[in-house]
Amino acid sequence: MRTKIVAGNWKMNKNLQETEELLAELSAKLPDTTADVIVAPTFVNLQAAKQALQDSKIQVAAQNMHFAESGAYTGEISADMLLSLDVDVVILGHSERRAYFGEDDELLAKKVKTAIEKGLKVIFCFGEELEDRKSDNHFAVVENQLKNALFDLDASAWGKIVLAYEPVWAIGTGETASPEQAQEMHAFIRKTIADGFNASIAEDVSILYGGSVKPANAAEIFSKPDVDGGLIGGASLKAEDFSDIIKAI
Ligand code: PGA
Repeated sequence: MRTKIVAGNWKMNKNLQETEELLAELSAKLPDTTADVIVAPTFVNLQAAKQALQDSKIQVAAQNMHFAESGAYTGEISADMLLSLDVDVVILGHSERRAYFGEDDELLAKKVKTAIEKGLKVIFCFGEELEDRKSDNHFAVVENQLKNALFDLDASAWGKIVLAYEPVWAIGTGETASPEQAQEMHAFIRKTIADGFNASIAEDVSILYGGSVKPANAAEIFSKPDVDGGLIGGASLKAEDFSDIIKAI
């Protein structure tokens, strides 16, 4: 049985007080679930989030990290820094990091490698742009993103990897991939991993869908056999919406 996961990517939202308020509200509303529930506040509020959630099943993730152990990288955050706060999950490869901060597959391969070596769990994001889909290139783009960043890993690393397929055209746009489009791509991703590694790794890896998931569409997307949960942006900023999405898993 694959782990079901609902993760909230808060992006550059919520100051300290707002973080504490949202987590208190979310804790109060959290439905009973066997799924893993994860929130990713901004770096400066990770410690407060850990504190606020110390008796909660909700896990805390970082939204990014640097690949280097330590050193002269002004403004950056290392794996050890996250681990010292007991944060052991990190989102890597989000399309906003790729688009606005120039993160490419080569850099992401280094980040994933470091995170895995350090024992962090990685939520690895990838997905095609609208142009890729229009030109029927979306499968090739996704295959390359996976191969370039993840296929040099040892097979044993896959226990620490969660995949998040996020078509760029669906992120923050209100436009969601149809459940059929999500299922089609998730099945393709599983096949790509089965071909590159083996069938049991492909079967066991959790693949989340991300891109305008909301309470109204979550249940249908999550009902697809190869969709193991969601990475939620906008709708994770409201406790009620996020808990309704958790109920849908
Ligand atoms: P969205 O963002 O739910 O606001 O579309 C998803 C994401 O960027 O992970």
